[in-house]
Amino acid sequence: MSITECIECNGKVSTTAKACPHCGAEDYKENAYFSFVYNVVENGSKYFPAPMMGVIGYTMIVAYIWVLLNIPFIVAVAVEFTKEAVALPNVIYKWSSWVIDIYVDFYIAIYDLLLKMLF
Ligand SMILES: [Zn+2]
Repeated sequence: MSITECIECNGKVSTTAKACPHCGAEDYKENAYFSFVYNVVENGSKYFPAPMMGVIGYTMIVAYIWVLLNIPFIVAVAVEFTKEAVALPNVIYKWSSWVIDIYVDFYIAIYDLLLKMLF
């Protein structure tokens, strides 16, 4: 038998107890990290208005997908920048210039589209 701390009232509780003797909480042993995340999700709208929570959430998802989609580009640029310091097989340089061409064409197209939409 050991003693743990209640996550609700921080009182000392035996790990074999069914509920906290100080505050009566039954989930006094709940994992501290998950209870923190749960608390943020549950009470986040008290600190940020709900639409803002949505904007923050979707921005994080879009940023995550954006980073994943750009991994080949980041690797290709790194290969190009280290060309003089590291000698890699020629096929890798062919791949990196091909990847960079595709991404640059893609970003120029997106940029043109945005300019046409905005002005
Ligand atoms: Zn308690």
